[in-house]
Amino acid sequence: MSDCIFCKIIEGSIPCTKVYEDEHVLAFMDIAPLSKGHTLLIPKQHVKDIFEMPEDVARNLYAAAPKIANAIKKAFNPQGMNTLNNNGALAGQTVFHYHLHFIPRYGEDDGYKVRWEAK
Ligand code: 5GP
Ligand code: ZN
Repeated sequence: MSDCIFCKIIEGSIPCTKVYEDEHVLAFMDIAPLSKGHTLLIPKQHVKDIFEMPEDVARNLYAAAPKIANAIKKAFNPQGMNTLNNNGALAGQTVFHYHLHFIPRYGEDDGYKVRWEAK
């Protein structure tokens, strides 16, 4: 999709810090991290949200998820991690290309703030 920033990241026309890539998915650091190591995992196929995600895209995306979580764990040594996904503007989605957030947690002073509130 020509006006999608995550499709542009996949094409390489917008730079990113890559964490993981295979034939089906790309993981990269969030530009405005909620904590150190905040990463996004996206399918290479443009899918708007969970409601429009074909099963094979979900299978490939979630097959990669533990690899991303463990790569972040190895690099940053957090004590825990939130994974989450927002679907629809009301639910806090701001980029309409499906993405799964990996938010490492380090304890009370990790700076984590939930920025998504129901509108
Ligand atoms: P959402 O609110 O849609 O669940 O999350 C969108 C996420 O994409 C936000 O955490 C935001 O910081 C991140 N983001 C938006 N634009 C860019 C970008 O150009 N590059 C990267 N790396 N992350 C982005
Ligand atoms: Zn896209």
